[in-house]
Amino acid sequence: MSELRDDQWFTEVFDSHGSAFSLKITEKLLDVQSDYQHLEVYATETYGNLMVLDGCVMLTDRDNFLYHEMIAHPALFTHQDPKRVVIIGGGDCGTLKEVLRHPGVEKVTQIDIDAEVTKAAERFFPALVASNNDPRAELLFADGVKWVDDAPDESIDVLIIDSTDPVGPAEGLFKTDFLKRCHRILKSGGVMVQQSESPLYHSGSIIRELRHDMREAGFNSVATLPFPQPVYPSGWWSITLAGKATDVNTFREQAAANHALPLEYYSVEAHRGALVLPPFMRKAFAAE
Ligand code: SAM
Repeated sequence: MSELRDDQWFTEVFDSHGSAFSLKITEKLLDVQSDYQHLEVYATETYGNLMVLDGCVMLTDRDNFLYHEMIAHPALFTHQDPKRVVIIGGGDCGTLKEVLRHPGVEKVTQIDIDAEVTKAAERFFPALVASNNDPRAELLFADGVKWVDDAPDESIDVLIIDSTDPVGPAEGLFKTDFLKRCHRILKSGGVMVQQSESPLYHSGSIIRELRHDMREAGFNSVATLPFPQPVYPSGWWSITLAGKATDVNTFREQAAANHALPLEYYSVEAHRGALVLPPFMRKAFAAE
């Protein structure tokens, strides 16, 4: 839920958690009702441009690097040799850009249900789409659930679920059946990663259920990594990794330490630190 107040603040209200987040805006740049969702873009006073889907903040220029680096690099440094990568959702193309920074990646397919999101990124977030012409990148606009259904067995090394919240078009992306199909299309040694909401608000609900469902789907190893994300509910977010015949609690530390990628948040230390869960999260997951 969101509202525009007279003094030009964009506010997203997190009703069920009795909290809200506001950004001072200077201009509304886009307002489109696509076939799937309500898409808005604003210029803000201090966070650059802001993208909103169905009233929920998706990203800002200022802090999207936190989310995009953390949804891409832990998974890519956990896999032993990622060559074939698939992104479900991610229409703003920020995750795609991070994945393409890995020279060993041979092909990345991004499947977002809504072409309007990518069109908006092309107009208002040029830095995020900067790698879209890389010959290794393939952009498709289709339902990710259907795409996964149709994909061949054991054909993917890393599968990234960069979706909106588990309501509306993204609801199917959080179901056990979908996770089973993700497991099916990953090669042995494959790694899946899903954005998994707020550690503070959702450890005992959405995150715990996702971890349970990932195991039910056949993944032998699961790890939730928290990281800061100021513009999302509670200011704190998480990714959850799942491994198919591989341990996602360890990663290629040497490669992560020696990379020459121009990153602003991810580092070998940040990855190690994110794998150490605070006691309240361990407690929430103990009942899995
Ligand atoms: N960083 C964001 C977050 O955690 O709030 C997610 C960003 S990205 C813009 C989310 C994308 O998921 C949207 O572009 C939306 O169109 C896409 N999406 C939602 N459901 C989908 C589905 N079933 N198949 C493919 N893409 C989907």
